[in-house]
Amino acid sequence: MAHTTAELDALLMQRSLTDPELLAAADAAADFRILPDATVIKIGGQSMIDRGRAAVYPLVDEIVAARKTHKLLIGTGAGTRARHLYSIAAELNLPAGVLSQLGASVADQNAAMLGQLLAKHGISMVDGAGLSAVPLYLAEVNAVVFSGMPPYGLWTRPAAEGVIPPYRTDAGCFLLAEQFGCKAMVYVKDEDGLYSANPKTAKDATFIPKISVDEMLARGLADSILEFPMLDLLKKARHVRQVQVVNGLKPGNLTRALAGEHVGTIITAR
Ligand code: ADP
Ligand code: MG
Repeated sequence: MAHTTAELDALLMQRSLTDPELLAAADAAADFRILPDATVIKIGGQSMIDRGRAAVYPLVDEIVAARKTHKLLIGTGAGTRARHLYSIAAELNLPAGVLSQLGASVADQNAAMLGQLLAKHGISMVDGAGLSAVPLYLAEVNAVVFSGMPPYGLWTRPAAEGVIPPYRTDAGCFLLAEQFGCKAMVYVKDEDGLYSANPKTAKDATFIPKISVDEMLARGLADSILEFPMLDLLKKARHVRQVQVVNGLKPGNLTRALAGEHVGTIITAR
């Protein structure tokens, strides 16, 4: 049943903001995508950028070529330096909010470096990927670099256990794609996609080309190639109903994924 604006207004004035009828009415408006032609790509921190020149230079070439035909929001992961910071800070008994700020500073560093490598192609890094000038960058040069950590900072909601911030750069990049109603979300990492177990340690791991969030949970793969809260975010997403994880160490993979090809693992909301 379609609710009218007047009904929604009446509900909002009278009910709790988590009232089911109010939520349904607020949900009834037609979907609106802010940047429907853009794709978010996340460049892995540990998996890609920490490998340095051998991994990053070919990827930069691919990005420069791809943005001729695609609008790209390029987010960066944090990686090994963040893990080192987490280890020191956790041992000092500092809280998740502080660790989140530390992790963000490393994703910022990676975005700064990627931005410099792309500078001569007119591609800039932006501070905070909030709207500000992002649409203008996309309209002019088809690409922009941002730091992938969500800006929760000190206000990070801690995980059930421990002080590692649960929403890191996989989640940060996905949330951006979903909020902007983007066309697709591609994770560029260092494995062909999801396996039945971590391929770095399990030699008999088998490749999984396509899987749903529920199947991943059922197979005990919730915390594997993507941060675990990602699965909840994807399941509840309104716009971005699947993500693809591709191996960025293999030239051409990113380009093919951007063209809509199935080259890695596709994880679906349903
Ligand atoms: P990023 O640098 O993008 O944050 P991560 O290093 O956090 O990437 O995640 C990618 C890594 O996840 C892979 O290099 C792989 O070693 C690990 N991994 C763990 N479990 C799995 C699995 N079941 N399938 C594939 N990769 C896995
Ligand atoms: Mg990671």
